[in-house]
Amino acid sequence: MNYFKTLGLGLMAMAAVSCSHGPQTMAGKGLDPADMDTTIAPGADFDQYANGGWKKRHPLPDEKSRYGAFDVLGDEAEKQVKELFAAISSNNFKQGSIEQKIANFYASGMDTTAIEARNLAPLQPYLSQIDELKSKADLQQLLAAWQSYGLNPLFGIYADADQKNSAMKVAYLYQSGLGMPNRDYYLNKDDHSLDIQQKYRAYIAGLLQILGQEPESAQQDAETIYAMEKEIAEFSMSMLDQRDPYKVYNKMNLDQLIATAPEYNWKAYFDGVKLSNPGDFIVCQPDFMKAMAQMVEAKPLADWKQYLKYHTISNFSSELPHAVGDLSFEFYGKTLSGSLVQRPRWKRVQEATAGALGEAVGQLYVKEYFPPEAKERMLKLVENLRKALAVRIGNLSWMSDTTKEKAIEKLNAITVKIGYPDKWKDYSSLEITPDSYFQNVVNANNFYFADMLSKVNKPVDKTEWGMTPQTVNAYYNPSANEIVFPAAILQPPFFYMDADDAINYGAIGVVIGHEMSHGFDDQGRQYDKIGNLNDWWQADDAERFNEKTKRLANQFSQFTVLDTVKADGKLTLGENIADLGGLNISYTAMQMALKGDEPQIDGFTPDQRFFLSYAHIWAQNIRDEEKLRLTKVDVHSLGRYRVLGPLRNTPEFYAAFDIKAGDYMYLPEDERVVIW
Ligand SMILES: [Zn+2]
Repeated sequence: MNYFKTLGLGLMAMAAVSCSHGPQTMAGKGLDPADMDTTIAPGADFDQYANGGWKKRHPLPDEKSRYGAFDVLGDEAEKQVKELFAAISSNNFKQGSIEQKIANFYASGMDTTAIEARNLAPLQPYLSQIDELKSKADLQQLLAAWQSYGLNPLFGIYADADQKNSAMKVAYLYQSGLGMPNRDYYLNKDDHSLDIQQKYRAYIAGLLQILGQEPESAQQDAETIYAMEKEIAEFSMSMLDQRDPYKVYNKMNLDQLIATAPEYNWKAYFDGVKLSNPGDFIVCQPDFMKAMAQMVEAKPLADWKQYLKYHTISNFSSELPHAVGDLSFEFYGKTLSGSLVQRPRWKRVQEATAGALGEAVGQLYVKEYFPPEAKERMLKLVENLRKALAVRIGNLSWMSDTTKEKAIEKLNAITVKIGYPDKWKDYSSLEITPDSYFQNVVNANNFYFADMLSKVNKPVDKTEWGMTPQTVNAYYNPSANEIVFPAAILQPPFFYMDADDAINYGAIGVVIGHEMSHGFDDQGRQYDKIGNLNDWWQADDAERFNEKTKRLANQFSQFTVLDTVKADGKLTLGENIADLGGLNISYTAMQMALKGDEPQIDGFTPDQRFFLSYAHIWAQNIRDEEKLRLTKVDVHSLGRYRVLGPLRNTPEFYAAFDIKAGDYMYLPEDERVVIW
């Protein structure tokens, strides 16, 4: 859990950029007319018009619950990492080198013969510890110790910049304890939700049977465990409330936390995670901690034992024999997301390896795949976008000069990270052997946990990255006021060195503008230029901002996702502000870059190509189950609405495609929203 604002869930993309005006020898590069569906008018459905051909030619692979233009780049990065791993495995590297650790980790995960032969043996010590619990005090001690294995039953801890003193790292305690994605999954009563709840109970029972219980008792215990989680869901904070940075910022010391949730032994907890002097820390959800502490006391120890056994085996489902992983896929992959088959093992193990040894893989990745020119070109483009946003802020009719001045100061203070960190994480103390995948994962979890907590109450290291270089995504970090673009998104097919400006501004330009806009969305605007929660707005300006964002939220809430289910305009507000801002800012930047005599390409003007390029970023096929899941858990809108929503508010789009009253893409002028 962190407050990074990413470009997309899981996969996204972007690339370095050419803003030169050389001869356009590669006419049409970057935009394939075959991706379009010209049987439909642009005003009738611009997503279908721009992406209809692409969607038809890219049916969903069985292993995917959604597949978009960005996933194509994700697949590309996956292939690159595969080649890196292949090169490593064919060589002998020194004991302790990062290459050897990567090779060992990957090999241990691919050794399914050993994993199947060991069966549940790696889990046994953990199950025994649960069996041996004699009291609630024992239980609490175990909960603390186990957080370092990556298990966060009931609640978790992490380290991050203090949101009101961004130079220092502090500890954050946050709610956890649910096996389904969030509280809504337990509390919703519609047919689809009831079906998921029933299948989730079956999943719990299935795992308990693998642990050796008879079907009937497994079913009974599954009901008990489900009822416990439902109780936890009832006192969990909603996703919407968690978007309010002040609601999740509750600074406390040990005495105050003890007063808030007296039934829990917090002193023993901090000793257990080896943070005996936590100092001041942040409790994200105090009401949750209070209710959770009471629940720990109230429920019988026997119930907690079953709850813990289930969560432990479920947590390690990827590292245990395939019977466990298959059940997990059945629920999380099929039922929740609609995937038809599990991804091949090599993809899953590769992803786990690139996660556990993130910056080790990153070092090899950038050496092979990240040309230094990409960084330089990207920096130039970011500065063009920064200039464009400054111009737009200067021209805003709804904002006072006083607030404008502060906004420009914040914009100028945004730091930019491109490609990879200046300083790599040191993995020398992390032991990885070729023998046990399970143990390697536990070792990696322990390593990150200790590393994270060692930074509590120390100055923030500004060189740290929140994503690895091989990640196809980007983010804005409000407490550092920084935008970050990992190497993997800075390459084709989304950036074409020889494409015209319209294509690159419509894609990478919009992505940069998107991340910049996060500094000024409904959450980001509450942070000042050094990343502190600190109101720098004139009250009138804030009021006008809120009025605009309310209208934007209402617009998105009217989109029908499936049958009677509507999009959640409030949950996705920050991302929608960033999409709309990114589109507007990049359009201005393109206007500043164009000379005005650019020729049509494939029959399209630069403006038309800009909007087609933008729409293409969000081309996406997606399963119904995944639509419903993402609507409940993702702060980003679905791809289709990322196309339709922002474009319907953009006057230059109306002009470019002759959108008229009565068209689906048309909004009356007084309903359109432009914020940045
Ligand atoms: Zn975003």
